Amino acid sequence: MPKSISRPFAALLLAASPLVLSACSESNAQEADRFAKVEIKAEPLADGIAVLFGAGGNIGVSYGPDGTVLIDDQFAPLTARIQAAVKDLGASPVKYLINTHWHYDHTGGNENLGQTGVLIMAQDHVRDRLIKGNDTVPPAAPEALPVITYHDGIKLHLNGDEIRVQHMKHAHTDGDSIVFWKNANVVHMGDLFFNQVTLPFIDLSSGGNARGILAAADKVLAMVDDDTKIIPGHGPMANKADLIAYRDMMKTVIAAVEKAQGEGKSLQQVQAMKPAAQWDVNPDAFIKGDAFVEAVYKSLQKPDHAEDHAH
Ligand SMILES: [Zn+2]
Ligand SMILES: [Zn+2]
Repeated sequence: MPKSISRPFAALLLAASPLVLSACSESNAQEADRFAKVEIKAEPLADGIAVLFGAGGNIGVSYGPDGTVLIDDQFAPLTARIQAAVKDLGASPVKYLINTHWHYDHTGGNENLGQTGVLIMAQDHVRDRLIKGNDTVPPAAPEALPVITYHDGIKLHLNGDEIRVQHMKHAHTDGDSIVFWKNANVVHMGDLFFNQVTLPFIDLSSGGNARGILAAADKVLAMVDDDTKIIPGHGPMANKADLIAYRDMMKTVIAAVEKAQGEGKSLQQVQAMKPAAQWDVNPDAFIKGDAFVEAVYKSLQKPDHAEDHAH
């Protein structure tokens, strides 16, 4: 995650309140304390599929005769409550975990779960980034690391469904995956999709790129229909129409920034044009118009990763 943004980002996603924006200077005890009031709420989506809302990235759950699969695991202090919520669904203890990307509001429970023998899966770059860490995120413990990694994707055949995990190149980060339940018609998009709560966060320092977010939205739109239930990385449940609106927003802003950049306009000049103004409506949003436009502007200065390579 970027140096200046990672702590506030996770803190904001915890409570979406300005009061929690200064987590960087707080001790672990204070940080644990802020999780004390977080409740994990389950919303059933289909037979054997649910979403858990708490603090951090939304969690997908698949459960049934072949075992329980989690998609993301929020923050370490919440692991016991997440396990309790899984039990309340009538599910067996977690057996498999898929990380949609490496950000710690999605992987914070990895170490706890890894210690209980949960099999962790993620895209290659997720493991690489968890091992390395960055300026604000320490290297992950060995138990927190994915033990099965893939480049393009992986399929899980269990609980009466085919769960397709598919990598989306250079988008929110360079390690994003979406998870699609083929029979149940449910998809978890990780942070490729922020529903309502904020303008998109594009983590350029983790290989993210605005163009990749647009491409991912288009790819998912080609897979879904009007009945598909879409789990966003953050925010309430969504449907195809919500994702179309999001895709159109990305497309419009990218086109406006690209055009202005082509005319030689500086970042400040493009920000002054307010190309994202009509979507910049939430005063408490983590990412507001100027930050989003900056990320788009810088994305377009990077090479287009249409032809990604395996690592
Ligand atoms: Zn997130
Ligand atoms: Zn993220």
